[in-house]
Amino acid sequence: MYNGSRFEAPQLVPERLLSMANIPRICVVGSSNIDLMFRTPRLPRPGETLTGRDFHFGFGGKGANQAVMAARLGAAVTMITKVGRDVFGEGTLRNYQAEGIDTIHLLRDAEQPSGVAGIVVDDAAQNCIILAPGANSRLTPEEVRGAARAIEAAHVLLCQLEVPVETTQAAFRIARAAGVRTILNPAPACQLPDDLLRLADLCVPNETELAELTGFAVEELNQVETAARQLRQKGPGMVIVTLGARGATIVNDRGAERLAAVPVTPVDTTGAGDAFIGSLAVFLAEGQPLAEAVRMANAVAALSVTRIGTQTSFPKRAEVEAFLRNRRLDG
Ligand code: ADP
Repeated sequence: MYNGSRFEAPQLVPERLLSMANIPRICVVGSSNIDLMFRTPRLPRPGETLTGRDFHFGFGGKGANQAVMAARLGAAVTMITKVGRDVFGEGTLRNYQAEGIDTIHLLRDAEQPSGVAGIVVDDAAQNCIILAPGANSRLTPEEVRGAARAIEAAHVLLCQLEVPVETTQAAFRIARAAGVRTILNPAPACQLPDDLLRLADLCVPNETELAELTGFAVEELNQVETAARQLRQKGPGMVIVTLGARGATIVNDRGAERLAAVPVTPVDTTGAGDAFIGSLAVFLAEGQPLAEAVRMANAVAALSVTRIGTQTSFPKRAEVEAFLRNRRLDG
């Protein structure tokens, strides 16, 4: 249904076609974190030492999660990111390598440690999170400009807000100049310069982020559409709002269309947004029609919420195809 030019099938020149077949190429400029998760009977009080029930170590960061999701679907992914010169940085590098992600632009900061999220979850499923961005906050526009060729070679550049805004802006400028499509996931929620929004072809917020960006109340579906239209006025030609169990709404120059979520029994919804966005980038880079790309991203994210964890919950291509086939047979 979508006929806008920036998400049409990739224009491949013959030599690239020969060397890389039709593999979608995604460049992510974003964060790498380590998640340290403790389960406790209740949240700790000031000054208290609490014995945890268990502990889980995971690779995270919105940039990393979206890159891993795209790689699981078979995309050629390059990650431009920064970690510390520490054991967590080493682990992050190995995790990217295990996922087949190009790490030539994984930089190491000499002073700051790798980004870490300390997460406490109690028996009532309440949580407390401390995020220390560390090296993520030191990824500079100059460093991104030094990696310009990786951005220029991609079909889609994907960014979030866990590295400095001016760094994301520099990345988007390079992409724009090279005709590479830009997707902004404005997470975590914050106010943004209009200049950055003007550089985004597609902006993909959840409801909280949409409310923060526009100052509008976003609860009812009609409020979602009104706020998304307002966000479009600020620059992005297209806005896709993720709505949790309600699916996602597309707002573009043709109006608004909501595509329902795939009904599943959720087990753990952390990382659902990252699964949706990482997969959406791949489907758009492949040249899927917009509504189909969103439908498939809904399916990928639904699969991810049926499993525990973030990256550990992300499906591979074959699982997504089997899931979609079975649903067609059921329906
Ligand atoms: P975030 O993780 O950023 O808060 P959302 O909660 O909006 O993002 O979820 C992102 C996507 O994940 C949704 O658009 C939907 O496709 C899928 N999703 C989330 N929760 C569910 C659910 N309970 N059932 C099915 N799909 C879900």
